[in-house]
Amino acid sequence: MINKKYLALGTKRSVIRELFEYGKKRKAEIGEEKVFDFSLGNPSIEPPKSLNKSIIDHLTKDDSISLHGYTSAQGDASVRSAIAASIKKRFDFDISSDLIYMTCGAAASLTITLSALCVEGDSVLTFAPYFPEYAVFAATAGATLKAVEPDGDMKIDFDDLALKLDGSVKAVIINSPNNPSGVVYDGATLKKLCAFLKSRSTEYGHPIYLISDEPYRELTYGAIVPYVFDHYENAVICYSYSKSLSVPGERIGYIAVSPLAKDCKDIYYAVCGAGRALGYVCAPSLMQKVIADCVYETSDVEKYKQNRDLLCGALKEYGYEFAKPDGAFYLFVKSPSGDGDEFSERAKKHELLIVSGKGFGVSTHARIAYCVDKKTIERSLPAFRALMEEYKKEN
Ligand code: PLP
Repeated sequence: MINKKYLALGTKRSVIRELFEYGKKRKAEIGEEKVFDFSLGNPSIEPPKSLNKSIIDHLTKDDSISLHGYTSAQGDASVRSAIAASIKKRFDFDISSDLIYMTCGAAASLTITLSALCVEGDSVLTFAPYFPEYAVFAATAGATLKAVEPDGDMKIDFDDLALKLDGSVKAVIINSPNNPSGVVYDGATLKKLCAFLKSRSTEYGHPIYLISDEPYRELTYGAIVPYVFDHYENAVICYSYSKSLSVPGERIGYIAVSPLAKDCKDIYYAVCGAGRALGYVCAPSLMQKVIADCVYETSDVEKYKQNRDLLCGALKEYGYEFAKPDGAFYLFVKSPSGDGDEFSERAKKHELLIVSGKGFGVSTHARIAYCVDKKTIERSLPAFRALMEEYKKEN
């Protein structure tokens, strides 16, 4: 008998992937240009030029046996030192490279971290709307995911947090800038959250760990993303270069354990152990070296900002409701019918592929991933207008 849990996970694709596959079929039927595919968070801007140059330099200049060989399980020491130095320079925060673990992107970072921190029966708390895979990562760690409802601006509803944060909660995941809402937590929000977690940690007599999932840290349009280690001691950062350097297929990121956590060394060893148990050792070797060359680089996010402004301006004019995103490349729009599933299905009839918010924990909304060519947005606008007209006629 094979593992039924994994059979079920593998058989049923995520809603996002399902829609993306539908889009591929539909494009083959009616033509690429006639389908407006806003399903997937795949970066649409080029990686920085220095990234490709770094790859070429390593391929042409390095000894290829060691370039393609194993690194230490936790990642190459010089790469981890370059990341630690960049954290010092960018955030003025001291961290030893021995608290950094190289991973295959944020998905691996989160699965490892949750597995390192949680034991069977723990709960993990996050804030709706949230990345749907959190439930899978938590389950892998033997924990159950619970979600706090958002307030009207898609930010934290602190009253609901107070209700849901009970003694079973081992870790809290935040994701700012957020997928799918684009919301960025400002300093005051983060401070309030951290103060609350500290007081509940004292009350329950055990640390509540704060996990910051940061694939979109660099993708902001003016907003400042506070550095979590400045605000909370028992914190772990799950970082990824997938979006900031437009390299999601290269699978590279890291885990950083705060040196201010009382048991930081043990947490780090548990991270190493979970990485070992899950098979996430020795992140892609060439990409590790490339990252060491590019720690201060980011793709040019100006194009995402232009897409955001174009889409937000037009959709607002047509009557759609949403909180204007400050970061990431997603717009989370309220369904005119109040039902995200219905909105997504009806949008398909206009060749608009947008993902229902149900899987993100907010069933009244749908997500538009605007990491697409600007022309796709321009061409899609009549369809968004027609879709809204349809809703208006019915009311
Ligand atoms: N966390 C969030 C919020 C995401 O949006 C994604 C990917 O879209 C991930 C984690 C996984 O990122 P990675 O590709 O680095 O594994």
